[in-house]
Amino acid sequence: MYLKKLYLRAFRNYLEEEVEFSAQKTILVGNNAQGKSNLLEAVELLATLKSHRTSRDQELVLDGAASGQIKALLERQYSVAELEIDLRRSGRRNLRINQNQCRRQLDFLGCLNAVEFSCLDLDLVRGAPDCRRQWLDTLLTQLEPLYAHILAQYQHIVKQRNALLKSLRQQWETGLALGEELSASLELWDQQLVEMGTRVARRRARGLARLAPLAQEWHGRISGGNETLTVTYQPNVIWEGDDPAVVHEAFLARLAQRRSAELHLGATVVGPHRDEVGFVIDETPARTYGSQGQQRTLVLALKLAELSLIETVIGEPPLLLLDDVLAELDLDRQGQLLMAIEDRFQTLITTTHLNRFDDRWRRSAQILQVNGGQ
Ligand code: ATP
Ligand code: MG
Repeated sequence: MYLKKLYLRAFRNYLEEEVEFSAQKTILVGNNAQGKSNLLEAVELLATLKSHRTSRDQELVLDGAASGQIKALLERQYSVAELEIDLRRSGRRNLRINQNQCRRQLDFLGCLNAVEFSCLDLDLVRGAPDCRRQWLDTLLTQLEPLYAHILAQYQHIVKQRNALLKSLRQQWETGLALGEELSASLELWDQQLVEMGTRVARRRARGLARLAPLAQEWHGRISGGNETLTVTYQPNVIWEGDDPAVVHEAFLARLAQRRSAELHLGATVVGPHRDEVGFVIDETPARTYGSQGQQRTLVLALKLAELSLIETVIGEPPLLLLDDVLAELDLDRQGQLLMAIEDRFQTLITTTHLNRFDDRWRRSAQILQVNGGQ
């Protein structure tokens, strides 16, 4: 797919700007705080309707403006689409494809596919488990927009169920017997939790099973084949095989087992919101033992694997957004990365220094100077 034009109005530090991408590779060069990452963030929003930097639309809208807009012209293999996101400080959004209003986020997601790779991504290895869950969820949403819908429903159920467990705990603490009505209500929520949780967990398992060999292959290539990466799904509810009935069963059994803990804590402790993804290099967990260099290689391999997987599933290459990544890699890995991209993916890459690119790259790329939101 090819992002041909991007239009920003009152977005971050852009008052109004239109950019036409004229080459497969675009280098956005400029000093710090000029708007390079902001531009990439706009593309990330078009792809995922999320920004990894904020969840508040009021931060996305230009200071002092009431609303902002991101617009893009996208060429896909068999179609052309104009995508529009209207942003408001209040957080209400309007989404349009070819001037048609999208009633649900689901209808908008999946039009533009992009893999974002920023220097913050080391959190993917070092950070708390929710960083890895978020990464996986973003990937799965690109593979199947419906996943975003399933996940949101699951998260809603967990929230409601937590509220119920909290009031049950209060009853329990004051020595009252659990009311029948509340107990019955908990059982209803259990059913829904298991229903949606099973759909989330199976998709995560399948997605990671497809990603793991690709990540291993890329990792071998970048590390020179000296190390073996193993990516594993470590679900909170453990099951064997791919039969939904089996997952269901395992989920219910685990819930029964943890019933008193949940009542005691007043929170849902069983389900995919407690999943983890494991990265092991040779025999060693990368999170705690990996060197910085090993962790960077790992993230790079995961991102390249994501690119390959999305390309396979959707049938055309996604966009690649590289924010400040080169500065973080040694020359060897910079070379590996630039070589891996070559002309396969439309790439937007930010830098403060053009000399990080060799002549060949500079000659074939479009170079855009970013200065004070222009
Ligand atoms: P670096 O090289 O440091 O990464 P950058 O060019 O990527 O710099 P950005 O993160 O794109 O910088 O832009 C940061 C600038 O945008 C900052 O000056 C910040 O104050 C400004 N900015 C961010 N949000 C808004 C907003 N809502 N309204 C106006 N300006 C904003
Ligand atoms: Mg930046």
